[in-house]
Amino acid sequence: MSDTVDDVDMPYEDESASQQEKIETLQERLEVLESQNEEMRDKLLDANAENNKYQQKLERLTHENKKLKQSPLFVATVQELNGEGVVIKQHGNNQEALTEVTDEMREDLAPDDRVAVNNSLSVVKKLEKETDVRARVMQVEHSPDVTYADIGGIDEQMNEVRETVEMPLEQPEMFGEVGITPPSGVLLYGPPGTGKTMLAKAVANETNATFIKMAGSELVHKFIGEGAKLVRDLFEVARENEPAVIFIDEIDAIASKRTDSKTSGDAEVQRTMMQLLSEMDGFDERGEIRIIAATNRFDMLDEAILRPGRFDRLIEVPKPDAEGRKIIFEIHTRDMNVADDVDFGALAEMAEDASGADVKAVCTEAGMFAIRDDRTEVRMGDFREAYEKLSQVEESDVGDSIAFA
Ligand code: ATP
Repeated sequence: MSDTVDDVDMPYEDESASQQEKIETLQERLEVLESQNEEMRDKLLDANAENNKYQQKLERLTHENKKLKQSPLFVATVQELNGEGVVIKQHGNNQEALTEVTDEMREDLAPDDRVAVNNSLSVVKKLEKETDVRARVMQVEHSPDVTYADIGGIDEQMNEVRETVEMPLEQPEMFGEVGITPPSGVLLYGPPGTGKTMLAKAVANETNATFIKMAGSELVHKFIGEGAKLVRDLFEVARENEPAVIFIDEIDAIASKRTDSKTSGDAEVQRTMMQLLSEMDGFDERGEIRIIAATNRFDMLDEAILRPGRFDRLIEVPKPDAEGRKIIFEIHTRDMNVADDVDFGALAEMAEDASGADVKAVCTEAGMFAIRDDRTEVRMGDFREAYEKLSQVEESDVGDSIAFA
């Protein structure tokens, strides 16, 4: 620190000091004060920065504290409403409890309603009906209308799926006689729109099995135990509808590599996955149920789900090559009134990098061009225009599932 002002002598009272000397002394004092001021300002800035840092830390800690204090919600069912409050029964431990609710909430509640309760068993909100959740997340088709003939360009994958899924469903006794455990299921991975869902539906159709689809993302729920319960429900529905093919789309949503974060949301996803693994491991008692899972994010999957005995085959379903695209064009134009000038080989070459779903979109759009032109016959020009239109959409809308470019 520089000298203080007091270090500068003040010759005011000194009668002998000249005017000039007094001015110089004052000048000197001013300079000292200015430099002190500068120093203080620097310190203030440092202190402010420090303060900001602490403020941020405080906010972070307050947030974490709040998160830790925030109790998880549990699912319960309303048993009865009486003069004293609401009797609820917790899922999982089946314990009943009497709890009070606001008048507003009370009006909204009826016996058998599902509610979310917190740690102190207060009703936080009313939940959707279980059957509604099931209906929303589970798609059950007793006879899907997709056949193997509807799928083009992925013959090798189709054969593998047939071998792994169809045989155990159609001739389960063979496996017993040979003395091996039938494969439990397959995992299909590859870009979107390449026919993974179609494959699963076709197998179910061809084996007269019920097709039960559930999306992994739908299994990720906010409420503790909800995801695991839905997985149990899924297998129960399958058991009730044997033979059945369970198709779990977007399996990465519940079977991603474990992260280091330990939030209750992650724990819930973990629980859902553990339930799925345990259902898959209990294969012997599962009867005629096969599992087909699909993902676009193979790299994200947790090793636990890939362990032998869970998915016996990992099958990559890539985008079709030119020959495959030609076949897919032919499949999707089967019911269309196509003009003689349409060259599927040329179309397949043109639609480079298109997936099966993209090819289907081009065919539908080509039909639209014909309709706009008041024609019932679809020409080569319609296909070209459709392809151009859809590729442009893709260019201007990055992230769309159509991926021509
Ligand atoms: P996602 O990963 O997005 O779930 P997916 O691979 O399951 O996609 P599908 O739902 O099977 O794709 O395909 C979507 C539509 O695209 C199908 O209904 C079908 O019309 C068409 N399609 C995709 N692949 C093929 C194919 N190989 N042969 C014929 N049509 C196909």
